[in-house]
Amino acid sequence: MNYFERVQKQIRYIIFQRSVSMITISTGIWVTLLVSALYWVLLLYLDDGFYLIDLCMPLGVGFLFTTVATLLLSKFFGKLEEERRLFSQLRENELQLKSSLAKTYIEIINQRDEKKKLSQDHARLRGSFSNEKQQRQATQAALDEQRIFNNAVIGLTPDVILFRDVEGKVLGANENLLKLLNANDNNEVAQQLELGGVTAEAFTRGDAEVKEKLTDLTYEVHIDNLVFQMRKRPAVNAANRLVGIICYGHDITELKHEQALIEQSSQAKSNFISTLSHELRTPLNGIVGLSEILLGTGHFKADDLRNLKAINVNAVTLGNIFNDVIDLNKFERRTFAVAKENVPWPDFLESLETLARLMAEQKFLTMDYSVEGQGFDYVVTDATRLRQMLWNLITNAVKFTVKGGIGIHVKQQIVASELEVSIAVSDSGIGIDKSEQQKIFDLYYQVKGTKQATGTGIGLHVTKELCLALGGRLELQSELGKGSVFTLFFKFKKGESEKHLETKNKESLNIMLVEDVDLNILVASSMLKGLGHKVVPAKTGAEAIQTFKEGSFDLVLLDMQLPDMTGLMVADELRKIKKIPMIALTANALHEYGEYIKHDVLDVITKPLSVKKLEEVLTRYNIRNLV
Ligand code: ADP
Repeated sequence: MNYFERVQKQIRYIIFQRSVSMITISTGIWVTLLVSALYWVLLLYLDDGFYLIDLCMPLGVGFLFTTVATLLLSKFFGKLEEERRLFSQLRENELQLKSSLAKTYIEIINQRDEKKKLSQDHARLRGSFSNEKQQRQATQAALDEQRIFNNAVIGLTPDVILFRDVEGKVLGANENLLKLLNANDNNEVAQQLELGGVTAEAFTRGDAEVKEKLTDLTYEVHIDNLVFQMRKRPAVNAANRLVGIICYGHDITELKHEQALIEQSSQAKSNFISTLSHELRTPLNGIVGLSEILLGTGHFKADDLRNLKAINVNAVTLGNIFNDVIDLNKFERRTFAVAKENVPWPDFLESLETLARLMAEQKFLTMDYSVEGQGFDYVVTDATRLRQMLWNLITNAVKFTVKGGIGIHVKQQIVASELEVSIAVSDSGIGIDKSEQQKIFDLYYQVKGTKQATGTGIGLHVTKELCLALGGRLELQSELGKGSVFTLFFKFKKGESEKHLETKNKESLNIMLVEDVDLNILVASSMLKGLGHKVVPAKTGAEAIQTFKEGSFDLVLLDMQLPDMTGLMVADELRKIKKIPMIALTANALHEYGEYIKHDVLDVITKPLSVKKLEEVLTRYNIRNLV
């Protein structure tokens, strides 16, 4: 019960108490008056005398009685009220007690519920904990197995393995690495890395790059007498954060040794091939040159002339086979380089026709030649290689044709400042079966039953490779028994065709010929003299320098391989003495064209020399103006 209710109740009680007092008083007064009146009436009736005391006594008794009754009642009600108040207080206390009891009870129930919930949660947690524990145990077991496996692999591998964290702290090194560094544990490995030097560098090289780019890195290092191929990999966690670097070193000492041996034997093979080719080429060039000189004299009877032509053609063919072998070797050694020269295009085609005609004549075959369309005067290409390809195709056409003839058909057109050329070499020979048409381009492949005496099986393979190297395409159309057509397609850039290159120089020149081989001197001298020039030979670099100092020359023809010096060294010495036009003579274009220019060498003539080549180069430069 709140305060307001208590006040309300109090007021109600006071009103009730006053009302009881009032009723008691008024009832007392009325009863007193009534009883007094009855008493008086009775007295009057009895007529026993009526005295003042008779008048007052009932009133007095009545009023006294009323007062006493009122007081008693009031006291009674006061007591009653007191009891009631006590009772109410008690009730209130009881209620409070009950309510606090109820609260306590609710609290107890709540607590019990909570406890129950807690114990449920606890049980659940305990369950999941034990689950987790089981899972963790299983994972741990799997990890342990994996670790054992990894450790076995890391331990068994013949390679060295090093793990470091991002700061470079050593986290692990496998047994082989400990052995290599003569260390007992990771700490000793770390100490060696901290010391710096070659070994530390071998393991720490490129760390910054791996960390920055998060990519693998491979490099080779030497540790003691061993060669290692090092591979580094950034260790990245699931959040793609770098956590360390793994360095893996594979011992490639043996491999390197074997590679060196292969390289040595390959080098020896190359040296052998180039020496052999040089040794054979020198007399061969002599045969080609001298037979050409003899052919030019016109002194021979028809039979002798045909024999002489045969000597010339076969010598050229043999030279071509040497070129194939040398180029094949260059492909194998990946040292093949394409030259870029200004080639007089109409002259190139003309010489091709001449050779093809000579070859066809040997076998009494017809030779059909045509050029369709307009080309450049000069094109930029590697003339020697282009000629070699065409010689291979023409040689085959002649070789595999018994009757009928061969043909060379050139189609050309200028498209967007380039010359698009197709050169088709056709024959009416044995033809090639469809099933063989791919295979014949393989190295050493020859169609069964077609093997000829001079066949090597390398010509078409080299031709295809050369064609690709020169940026061209080779197509074959053939029908068994009817003949074949091999077509080369190229796009050539326009070559230099300045006026001064075309100026003819018909004057007699005084030429110093620097050449060590007598036969070559004989051939070149005969050709140059035939063209009306004077020739002074020098057989060594030293002799050339001496002769040059003493004489007065318009031109120097310089062989590139001399006994005491290279041709370019001689060129350097000569130009120190006096500026002079120089032309290189070489069996193989050894250098890029630009390399010759650097040494003031105007041009290069490839051997075997021919009157045509010499004349072409000599007339290309206005030599006297250059002196
Ligand atoms: P080879 O030195 O034997 O001529 P190639 O590589 O030049 O070597 O040619 C490979 C083979 O392709 C030849 O042996 C021959 O069987 C075939 N072949 C090449 N050209 C012709 C051709 N014009 N007609 C028929 N067969 C050819």
